[in-house]
Amino acid sequence: MKIHVLGTGHADVLDDYNTCFVMENDGGEFLLVDAGNGNRISKQLSLQNLNLNDIEYAFVSHNHADHMLGFAWILRYVLVGFMNGTRTKPFTLYGMKQCIDAVRMLMLVTMGEKTCGQYFDNLIHFKEVRDGEILNLMGLDFIFFDTCATDMPQMAFYVKEKGFYFCGDVPLDPKYYDKFKNSKWLCLEAFCLERERAGKELPLKKHKTVKEASMVAETLQAENLILWHSQDNHNKIKKEYEKEAREVYNGNIIIPKDLDTLEL
Ligand SMILES: [Zn+2]
Repeated sequence: MKIHVLGTGHADVLDDYNTCFVMENDGGEFLLVDAGNGNRISKQLSLQNLNLNDIEYAFVSHNHADHMLGFAWILRYVLVGFMNGTRTKPFTLYGMKQCIDAVRMLMLVTMGEKTCGQYFDNLIHFKEVRDGEILNLMGLDFIFFDTCATDMPQMAFYVKEKGFYFCGDVPLDPKYYDKFKNSKWLCLEAFCLERERAGKELPLKKHKTVKEASMVAETLQAENLILWHSQDNHNKIKKEYEKEAREVYNGNIIIPKDLDTLEL
């Protein structure tokens, strides 16, 4: 399996793109996880040499702008693909009810009911996922879980057979520590470095520093820690992130940058 990283930033980044990625299975099937905040998703896909017409599945984790708004563009391109005959594969968006309803509404408002009505629920599907639900997508079992986010409901997932744990953009709730123990690939958000705490009290109410996230990975004895949903110019500060993570975590540290591809 491959993870094609499209973005690694948190909500306010301007140079990097917001955290989102495409999962590719060994059979060349694709699933998009979140879509960032706008039409730059299209550029990120093309820079990754990915063709949206090949992507059949997508998942939206929550309704914050930096994860959900890009789907207005993704769905627009999917619709246009069907209209001009370049797309043949159906497209299914998975997410909590309030997320798929929001994307659906965005599309109805921006593309019109007539256009959407021709494709919704026959070639473009919106499917609700619930806490604890297991869905087989691309031949892999995705297990969805409620992240217990405090300000807005959020769903994340793990693929147990690949040892891949995507925890969304909030700290991992301690109630999952036992279940996620010894994870092979643990994806956690890290808003900033520990020494950058000052002035960031508000975002750090719902996010963690590199050190805090890395301590969780150490507690869980994760083999590989993927840190993202971070600040801008991520590329430049990679070394500092690695240094801070290494102080508390003994496994393999991965600080991806936009457009990296990870082989799982
Ligand atoms: Zn976010």
